[in-house]
Amino acid sequence: MSNNRKIIIAIDGHSSCGKSTFAKAIAARLGYIFIDTGAMYRAVTLYALEHGAIPSGIADEERIEAMLSDIDINFRFNPKRGASDIYVNGDLVESKIRTIEVSNCVSAVSSIGAVRQKLVAMQQEMGRKRGVVMDGRDIGTVVFPEAELKIYMTADPMVRAERRYKELTAKGDNVTLEEIYENVVSRDKADMSRAISPLRKADDAIVLDNSHMSVAEQMEWFDKEFARVMDL
Ligand code: C5P
Repeated sequence: MSNNRKIIIAIDGHSSCGKSTFAKAIAARLGYIFIDTGAMYRAVTLYALEHGAIPSGIADEERIEAMLSDIDINFRFNPKRGASDIYVNGDLVESKIRTIEVSNCVSAVSSIGAVRQKLVAMQQEMGRKRGVVMDGRDIGTVVFPEAELKIYMTADPMVRAERRYKELTAKGDNVTLEEIYENVVSRDKADMSRAISPLRKADDAIVLDNSHMSVAEQMEWFDKEFARVMDL
């Protein structure tokens, strides 16, 4: 077994527990490609919101399904962020997809079978050459069930809400801690109870509860797990 072989690292888990930050740091360390699949579901949600397919906060499944062929999603590497920005039909939507409006509608959109079919196929294609760190809800169970390293992340819901609250208010978003907490808890519930590809820990995933861990401590934990998988 060569130590240079490239593997797939699947990171799943609850909302707002720092999956993307962790995944991005791992990808930078290994020279792998980081793919934030939540951004893809958010991008479809933003498009649906902007095109009137989520009237009064209720996702119109038929309309969303019909508009899928009009939605072209692309990632382009942004050296300033050290990660890829997401574009929809050529428009940069990286910050627009992170609002509370999108967060409040995304679980309904991500529960639509046709949406998942389209995005899962794209994700499988992106990981075909391996050497990727992909974060989401169904990566280790559905997108890459054969991933060599699967991590299931979680953290206390209030800790997660506080982290997200700090992030959004630092950007100038006008939100309350209560509404963020509400969103985090209700998204967990929706993501875990949906009929298609619900969030669940893959049998062979290892759990990382980062409620009381710094990013540096998480990286130390990761290094050990990576070395184990790679037989280093
Ligand atoms: O990771 P993030 O919180 O940005 O994901 C937004 C939403 O996208 C999740 O709450 C979930 O509904 C959906 N999602 C999913 N499957 C993935 C990634 C995200 O259903 N692989």
